[in-house]
Amino acid sequence: MESSTQLLVNPSEEDQARAVWSACLDRIRESVNTQSFKTWFEPMVPLHLRAGKLTVQVPSQFFYDWLEEHYYTVINETIATVLGKDAYLEYSVRTDEPQIDLDYGVSPPPVPRVDRRTFPPQPNSFTMPPQPAASGGRTEPGQFQTFLNPRYTFGNFIKGDSNQLARAAASAVANNPGGTSFNPLVIYGGTGLGKTHLIQAIGNHALANGKANRVIYVSSERFTVEFVEAIQRDTTSEFASFYRSMDILIVDDIQFFAGKERTQDHFFHTFNELHQLGRQIVLSSDRPPKELKGLDDRLLSRFQWGLTSDVQPPDLETRIAILLKKSENEGISMPQDVVECIATNVTSNIRELEGCLISLMAKASLEGREISVDLAREVIKVVVGDVKSPLTIETIQRTVCDYFNIPEDLIRAKTRKQEIVNARQVAMYLAKELTNCSLKTIGLHFGGRDHSTVIHAYQSVEDQMRIDQKYQANVQQIRRRLQMLGHV
Ligand code: ADP
Ligand code: MG
Repeated sequence: MESSTQLLVNPSEEDQARAVWSACLDRIRESVNTQSFKTWFEPMVPLHLRAGKLTVQVPSQFFYDWLEEHYYTVINETIATVLGKDAYLEYSVRTDEPQIDLDYGVSPPPVPRVDRRTFPPQPNSFTMPPQPAASGGRTEPGQFQTFLNPRYTFGNFIKGDSNQLARAAASAVANNPGGTSFNPLVIYGGTGLGKTHLIQAIGNHALANGKANRVIYVSSERFTVEFVEAIQRDTTSEFASFYRSMDILIVDDIQFFAGKERTQDHFFHTFNELHQLGRQIVLSSDRPPKELKGLDDRLLSRFQWGLTSDVQPPDLETRIAILLKKSENEGISMPQDVVECIATNVTSNIRELEGCLISLMAKASLEGREISVDLAREVIKVVVGDVKSPLTIETIQRTVCDYFNIPEDLIRAKTRKQEIVNARQVAMYLAKELTNCSLKTIGLHFGGRDHSTVIHAYQSVEDQMRIDQKYQANVQQIRRRLQMLGHV
């Protein structure tokens, strides 16, 4: 890493960067406490200074996010004082992911394997002259920013029941853009569930594997802003031909097109042209397309040409897998009980899950404490408001009865009707599996039965699961529901 950096960077730019950064550090040291300075600022490595832009490398995405959230003002004010008010800082996030062949325009990226982040955001570059679209084979990419974040890859995307179809469709599209019947591919779902990640993974994968040359990612808001600007500058035909030259057009959060009729109209024509040329269109939305209000029917009917798939909130297993993967990426080994504690309590979305992990690492680092369940609980309280109480036998009974559609009181009664006995046994089994209650306590909750009844129920559920797949699927389904409640 170090030696390749030397090869690419002009030494005088590097020296300048070091000198400037050292002056910045002197100021920053005065504004933040010693521990924070050591944790967050000492590991930053100045790379080069070019035309008022200082590029520094940070060790991980976690670092970058943390700096951006907590030290944005301190850093920017310092840069302005040391370098002047038009100067700004650019971060290079060191990443160990395989490098993706991103389109950086004419000059190479400053160092290999970096994710370029910039304050302030780079101006849009659709006004660059568009290149003719690729017609098979790999041609020189044109000069424009793809706006893809290299962190969003399929490799980093954890599979689970909640995203299985969407992920499979995305992968099919990435391997054969425009060549499947999934055109457009529309992915919808609630916030923080991985839509942006997945649709960008398509672009990153297709570029890295030579399946497409021209890929652009754009939010519907930015598309709208650019369109309005193009009208004002009288450059709508350049705007149109730029987007229509793409092999893959990825538009995020199309719900924000609602009510913007002229933009929709323009998008409609872009859509048609790309579709006719066999180019791939990928869209995301926060709800199923047919529930999108304020969208032209012509557009809505186009969306039905391809495949629409949702992403659901992740189940417990997926949440655990995500936490393990993310902590591994940050080079931190999380004790299993800590992972389970977070996964149990942070249930609604993956962004919150990540937020929790980041706060936990930061808190441990800043306060010099070990990562433990106690620390995790403190962080969770802040992120999600409260730590869920442990799962109770009553909740299990209610969930089981709800699943089998039987009255709850019968599960505690003496009745020997087969369907009730069945539900009662499943509830006992899950109570033993998912709570710390003793057999005696469990028995008492089921109409005062004794512990041998509970053992018998447990055994018989296990036996039936072994021989009857449907039965086993039912039990798993209930277990998942309980886990989705976030109690387990
Ligand atoms: P959305 O666009 O649906 O609001 P994002 O794609 O921005 O959600 O996801 C929020 C965060 O969660 C991102 O940092 C993303 O990388 C992460 N994430 C979402 N789904 C997964 C997944 N299945 N595996 C790993 N990370 C995920
Ligand atoms: Mg998103």
